[in-house]
Amino acid sequence: MVFFERAPAKINLSLDVLGKRDDGFHEVEMIMTAIDLVDRVELHALSGDHIEVSADNQYVPNDERNLAYKAALAFKNKYHINNGVRIEIEKNIPVSAGLGGGSSDAAAVLRGLNQMWSVHATLKELADLGECIGSDVPFCVYSTTALATGHGEKIHELVSPPFCYVVLAKPNIGVSTKTVFQKVNLDELHHPNTNKIIQAMEKGDFASLSSNIGNALENITFCLHPNVKRIKEKMVQAGAAGVVMSGSGPTIVGLVEHYSKAKRIYNGLRGFCEEVYIVRLLDRR
Ligand code: ATP
Repeated sequence: MVFFERAPAKINLSLDVLGKRDDGFHEVEMIMTAIDLVDRVELHALSGDHIEVSADNQYVPNDERNLAYKAALAFKNKYHINNGVRIEIEKNIPVSAGLGGGSSDAAAVLRGLNQMWSVHATLKELADLGECIGSDVPFCVYSTTALATGHGEKIHELVSPPFCYVVLAKPNIGVSTKTVFQKVNLDELHHPNTNKIIQAMEKGDFASLSSNIGNALENITFCLHPNVKRIKEKMVQAGAAGVVMSGSGPTIVGLVEHYSKAKRIYNGLRGFCEEVYIVRLLDRR
């Protein structure tokens, strides 16, 4: 028996840090939406009771450190399943890029095993289970457009953003989310206006959406990796309507209304950045 699941990347239209909690986690407020840059997760039923995982990417571990493995283990424990599974991941989402690739693979495993083993858990139950694997896993279970609060695990669905193209530029470095959060100084952050972004989406106002997107972590990542700041500047100069860093970076996201402009920006950035993509929002009007 073989099951396939699509595991879409996410981008942040906003990321704000509101405070630090007693448990060490930061209180965040993020607007995220899924894009059509997608890993392909294949689940093969095994006769034994073990979990195997393999991914076609040298930066992704093929053992119990893989978030997909952790998801399968959590699912087996929660629902007392004694069957085994081999997980094969075709990685198309860049790793350690701020695009939530590992979290999305984990979420795809939860959805896929739910079907394969006929558990019939709701998406809410899978999202709750995903919380112990990583803060972005609950969002990825739904993979729509949502406001994520708490440490990212509380999901409130939002209306879809207006139609647009997304240019992604990922410099050839990985950024550790942990390192960036360790450097947060709450007095120095530049806070995006989350409500204005939500209002812009509700009105389908692309111009207002583009001018309000923002990420409180940008300056920290820019200090650690000045090249990321240069790529943001290039994307702005090239004419993207709205430009923001996704997650803790290093991927820079540009929102563009028309494909011809997206293509021009893509061509302009390819000389400065190893990986550039044009994608569409998965959840769109
Ligand atoms: P986020 O935005 O949620 O912080 P990210 O996009 O920055 O995530 P990922 O690509 O999810 O980062 O990977 C982060 C780390 O997780 C890497 O060190 C990677 O080796 C590890 N990892 C474990 N499992 C996976 C997986 N299935 N896919 C990608 N990375 C994985």
